[in-house]
Amino acid sequence: MSYAGRALVGMGSCGMAAGAERVDEAVRRGAVTLGLQLEVEAVGCLGECHREVVLALERPGFPRLYYGPVDPEAVRKLLEGYFLHRRPYLMGVFAREGEGLPQVPELAAVLAGQSRRLLANAGRIVPASLEEYQAVGGYRALRAALRSESGELRREVAAAGLRGRSGSAFPTGTKWEAAMLTPGPRVVAVNADEGNPGTFGNRLLLEGDPHRVLEGAALAALAVEADAILIYVRHEYPLGRSRLEEALAAAQGAGLLGPDVLGTGRRLAVRVTGGAGAFICGEETALLSSAEGRRGRPRLRPPYPAQRGYLGRPTVVHNVETVANLPELILRGAAWFRSVGTDQSPGTKIFSFAGRVARGGAVEVPLGTPLRRILALAGAEGARAVALGSPLGPVLAGAELELPAAFEVRPELGTTVGSGGLLVAGEGDSVRELVLESLRMSRDESCGHCVPCREGLVRLVELVERRHGEARIRALADLVRAASMCGLGQGAPLPLLTAWERFPEEFAPLATRRREHA
Ligand code: SF4
Repeated sequence: MSYAGRALVGMGSCGMAAGAERVDEAVRRGAVTLGLQLEVEAVGCLGECHREVVLALERPGFPRLYYGPVDPEAVRKLLEGYFLHRRPYLMGVFAREGEGLPQVPELAAVLAGQSRRLLANAGRIVPASLEEYQAVGGYRALRAALRSESGELRREVAAAGLRGRSGSAFPTGTKWEAAMLTPGPRVVAVNADEGNPGTFGNRLLLEGDPHRVLEGAALAALAVEADAILIYVRHEYPLGRSRLEEALAAAQGAGLLGPDVLGTGRRLAVRVTGGAGAFICGEETALLSSAEGRRGRPRLRPPYPAQRGYLGRPTVVHNVETVANLPELILRGAAWFRSVGTDQSPGTKIFSFAGRVARGGAVEVPLGTPLRRILALAGAEGARAVALGSPLGPVLAGAELELPAAFEVRPELGTTVGSGGLLVAGEGDSVRELVLESLRMSRDESCGHCVPCREGLVRLVELVERRHGEARIRALADLVRAASMCGLGQGAPLPLLTAWERFPEEFAPLATRRREHA
């Protein structure tokens, strides 16, 4: 048997749900039947979730081809065409890398509008493989940072203007300087408790490129002179957690993380822990309580986590996507980082889609890209309304969908970026139902600690369901926003209030509607 090449099977959560294990079996069987010596590897998702199961084939001297969606019955034909006849079977091909094959028109539409920095490796390398990550430049930034002063790292990131990608958009450099005001030992906590509906950019990183997350967390730790890293992974992300743990074991085995990083005497102890299964544990203080083994419930601030966080130690909490930016930023510098995005929102952002979209998945684009263009990548050109960062973000519609997705745009609504999740309503969809689902989720996920949120959201859902008048509902919504202790209660009425302004006819009280239809 001669060397033939590799087959990469899309085995992120989306691929698995679409039957990737059966495709994987079919590839292995097909290789034996056809006498091919194939390395068959599981990889993460490219962001083209709607095409799963995605299969990539590669062999020396020939472009890598992506096929999708692939079912097990098609596998033998694909292998024969690509490896034996050297005339690839083109039906179902959706992407290629390299030259020499006819351009598949759809490829341009899907990838040309993207700027894939964070997702550069997802779906292309074996996720937990240290060798493959290092082959594409992985851990070079960590090696460089170990030779730098922590202050240099903080200055570089501040100059780059990196802002938190969780939706809060807090400047990372400012957060780091604040953390330095409290004596250590410090902790870096990575919030991988991604719970917003339709938001799954963090999952793509954890499942597809976990070493990038680990390296980014290690860089943040070096910058704030922390010696411990906590990664809190959403309970519903078992695959992401297992790939992260596998990658961690490989990095520790190579001395890249652990008690004596690369013989420098620096200690970077990493703990990966599973989430408690509650949406509120994505709130940073609730996350820290949960990680300490207590009930996941938000804490009053101050003290802020940077002053007193995990186990009483000063703690810098970052989103997965925020730390995933650090390896390339440190390697290439602030000017490179600022080469895409806007002045106040430099860099890229992963946006994921759900709802009325033709191409469910995720894309990575420069911040400042118009929302309409992002929607076009999702195949949602005719969107009627978009819920940003549901269930705590605004509902946008009409001319607002032409706005650029940047942190400085409409900050009164929590910006046009949010967590990066877009829930799309199309023509004929009820925005009121979309809002009610958001409100019900917030009601059900309230931790119950403060009355305005606990009782107010129950009542708010009832009032909207029963179509009460605007004045009464608005008064209660304003009260819940103003008097709740954490972001859940403060944000929960936002979808309702913004949707009401844009679609008042859908929320009109029943009496008014009856009069109109009489
Ligand atoms: Fe808990 Fe809601 Fe109060 Fe937040 S606002 S602390 S979720 S009850």
